[in-house]
Amino acid sequence: MDECIFCKIVKGDIPSVKIYENGHVFAFMDINPVSDGHALVIPKKHAQNLWEIPEEDLSAVHTASKKIVRAMTRAMGPVSVATVQLNGRGVNQVVMHYHLHLIPRASDGEALNLTAWEMIPGDMEAINRNGAAIAAAIENDKDQKESK
Ligand code: AMP
Ligand code: ZN
Repeated sequence: MDECIFCKIVKGDIPSVKIYENGHVFAFMDINPVSDGHALVIPKKHAQNLWEIPEEDLSAVHTASKKIVRAMTRAMGPVSVATVQLNGRGVNQVVMHYHLHLIPRASDGEALNLTAWEMIPGDMEAINRNGAAIAAAIENDKDQKESK
């Protein structure tokens, strides 16, 4: 998948604020965050959507997301985290490489539009800072080491 932007991120051809990777999975910060800490978890191997992704990769993405959300909670203390995954242009999938959004909500008062969000570039300093905090919390996660 030469043209896929997320495949390029996995290969390191396009820079990203990486927070986690293992044999199957790559996770990085969204550059147009809906909220502080918005991250994406993707399979390393290209698959477009839920119908295409092999079960092993699907399971690896969601297992990793559990670890990342735990670290996110420790690093940022969100009260809630939405996991959102879109399939097809009709529901606003923009990047055609399977990805699970992890969108923390810091407080019950925070406005969070999950049905029609706009792509507004985030503050890269904050994105880097949040990414570093989440990556450090994952690194310190001694409870549940993954084998994959
Ligand atoms: P969607 O396909 O609508 O589920 O969302 C694609 C997501 O990918 C959006 O939230 C974008 O902000 C995000 N995105 C696109 N390009 C990049 C990139 N180079 N680095 C980080 N996030 C990206
Ligand atoms: Zn791809």
